[in-house]
This record gives sequence, structure tokens and C-alpha cells, in this order.
Amino acid sequence: MRCVSCHTFSVDVVCPSCAKRLLRPTISRRTVGTLEVVSLFHYSVIEPFLLTKHTPLGHRIYRYLGRHYVAPFVEEYRSQMGMPFGVVGVDEHVGHGYAHTALLTRAIDHPDITVTHGALLARNRVNYAGKTLQYRLDHPRDFRYIGPKGQQVVLVDDIVTTGITLQEAVGELKRNDLTVLFAVTLADAQY
Ligand SMILES: [Zn+2]
Repeated sequence: MRCVSCHTFSVDVVCPSCAKRLLRPTISRRTVGTLEVVSLFHYSVIEPFLLTKHTPLGHRIYRYLGRHYVAPFVEEYRSQMGMPFGVVGVDEHVGHGYAHTALLTRAIDHPDITVTHGALLARNRVNYAGKTLQYRLDHPRDFRYIGPKGQQVVLVDDIVTTGITLQEAVGELKRNDLTVLFAVTLADAQY
């Protein structure tokens, strides 16, 4: 295939040279309510790579970013924390072929990390793109969680914008007796 950035032939969707030059993680942290949100990239860094996401091969970039960035980050956290935990992806809804979040969480592979797929789904699949904060507040996602209860989990999402979606997700997980350790997102849209 060709590198999505420089278009030279590459075994991966991003060639090693572009990955090294252009995909250096720019880790940022912010607090949303009581939730700590860690983002691996500034959105402006990763945006050119996500432009392929609506193409038939768009799933490859998410799978790549999951394997090379999200999974190693979560697995490294596991080795520092020293105890097992679960991972829940936000809205792993497979409506249009694949869910971005599921491609990120699927790459996580560690015996002490239990990844529960498709367990936290929005009943209201409203598009927030370009919408105001008030609109987002007036149209909640209305999450339903159907996974195992009573565990500690790391929440995974692709992009954090206002943080409203993550806060809503945390609320639903708390109602199901889960403790959210923190959230990790691929990108923070405020950068
Ligand atoms: Zn390249």
C-alpha cells in the first residue's frame, strides 16, 4: 500500500519515515469534571492522517494508531499500576462498517487487561460536529452500559472536544458500579 502522508510504497499505512517525523506523541492532560483525560496527540498533529478515515481504507489508520500508540500507552500504564483493570471503548457502534474506537481498543492485548467491546453504546447518535456547547448539553448521548460490573476501567475514545461525551460515559459507568481510572483519547481537539 502507499503511505497516507507521503504516498511512497509502504508495508504500513504510515511509512516509518513519516511516523518518525510527523507522528510524535504530544501528550496532553486535562480534567473534565473529576475525570482525568490523557490525549496522545494534539488534534492538529493527527488531523492530516485522519483525513482518510471516510475512505474504504480508512479503518487502516485507526488500526495503525491503536496498535502503535493507544495499546502501548495502556499496556505501559498496566505495568506501572501493577494490577489488572478493564478497558471500555466509548460507543463502539458498528453502524457504518466499523467503529473508530473499537479499532483503537482492539489493539490492546495484555493478559491483565480485559477489553470489553461494544458495551457502552449511545442511544442517541447525534452528530456533534460544529455544534455549540449548549446544543451538546441539550442533546445527550444517552449511554447504556451492558458489560461486566464492579471493575476498574480505563475509558478510550478517539477525540475529546468539550469532554461532555466522556463525562456522560463516566456517569453511566458509575451507575453500573464501575470505577473509571482515567480516559485516554487519541487526540485533543483543543490543540
Ligand atoms: Zn510516508
